[in-house]
Amino acid sequence: MSILKVARLGHPVLRTRARPLEENQIKSQAIQKLVDDMIETMHEYQGIGLAAPQIYEGFRIFVAGIESESEDGELSTTVFINPEVVSLDSSKNEDWEGCLSIPDMCGRVLRPANVRIRSLDRQGESFEKELRGHSARVVQHELDHLDGILFLDRMISFESLSFLEEFERFWRSEAN
Ligand code: ZN
Repeated sequence: MSILKVARLGHPVLRTRARPLEENQIKSQAIQKLVDDMIETMHEYQGIGLAAPQIYEGFRIFVAGIESESEDGELSTTVFINPEVVSLDSSKNEDWEGCLSIPDMCGRVLRPANVRIRSLDRQGESFEKELRGHSARVVQHELDHLDGILFLDRMISFESLSFLEEFERFWRSEAN
């Protein structure tokens, strides 16, 4: 496995719509290795999610730490290929987001609170999950990457946009 270089804000790959994978492509050695490398890269940089365009690959793949159903707070690393997200109701919430492609910054983003995600796993099998709270936010952030959208685009106001150091100093006590 290898740790991959992460594209940063300004690189056009982050603004390019990624393409879906064919079923036979998913099982290829190249894609299986890519998925392993994405997981390793996400863990190395302590991200909660990583989408293929962030490592210069224009495929509709992302990996993310998703809260497990037992609600013990454990995150389980999950692979999503050709995912689709629909919101389950009209409720929204605003919370802090950061991004490995926009290092050292974070800001508040309003998103649907409850979503259903339908996706293929790394074997090409389809699965569905209903997600709330933080995990719902993470999959929407990662799905946006597959469409060339960054969390900055979703901010209603840049007033909360902060460097992490200033976030810790001035905003942390308000967050959660
Ligand atoms: Zn991101």
